[in-house]
Amino acid sequence: MRILVVEDERKLAEVLAAALAAEHYEVVTAPTGEDAFFRVNAELFDLVILDVMLPGRNGFEILEALRRRHLQTPVLVLTARDAIEDRVRGLDSGADDYLVKPFAFPELLARIRALLRRGRPAEVLKLKAADLELDLVTHRAVRGERVLDLTIREFELLEYLLRHQGHLVSREMLARDVWREPRRATPIDNVIDVQIARLRRKVDTDRERRLIHTIRGVGFLLKEPEHERA
Ligand code: CA
Repeated sequence: MRILVVEDERKLAEVLAAALAAEHYEVVTAPTGEDAFFRVNAELFDLVILDVMLPGRNGFEILEALRRRHLQTPVLVLTARDAIEDRVRGLDSGADDYLVKPFAFPELLARIRALLRRGRPAEVLKLKAADLELDLVTHRAVRGERVLDLTIREFELLEYLLRHQGHLVSREMLARDVWREPRRATPIDNVIDVQIARLRRKVDTDRERRLIHTIRGVGFLLKEPEHERA
């Protein structure tokens, strides 16, 4: 079970992560709402623990934005203030539960178990753009009638581009999230470019309706073709 902990106070985030890891949850921490927003768009989580007090957009705003994008993952909101209006706002924003800080860890664990018991949300098992379809269960990629013969890396790359469909994906994002190289260096940029070129040959060859686009100097974009002919 994967849990995303969104908390800017590093100490608390670390304590939470360690304690949850001890309960055999896989934990990812995000220090800001923006970071959290990005992560839930790119990865699957079974639960999000979201602190309200965050720099930039607060937890409620993040939660509203996530629900607008139809994120169904259960969200447990942590609020420092035991104010009725906070609880109401939390539930209105789409929180599944909330806990007032400071809280006892066993209580947090009990809430987490309860939320996870409600069952995994209906996960996206297929990603699509135009006539391209990626089956995340069987790891099959199909464009129109053609099954694409992708390497594991190419599949991951295509999955990532599809999850960010219509949004610009930078080499930094790919280095961090697909290659899992937090420190981006020039050699990895070259690797990324080569992989993208290979992937494009497989996905877009003989297609007038191209899906993968390079935005010079910035990164890549997967989008459904508009009605014009390329
Ligand atoms: Ca905080």
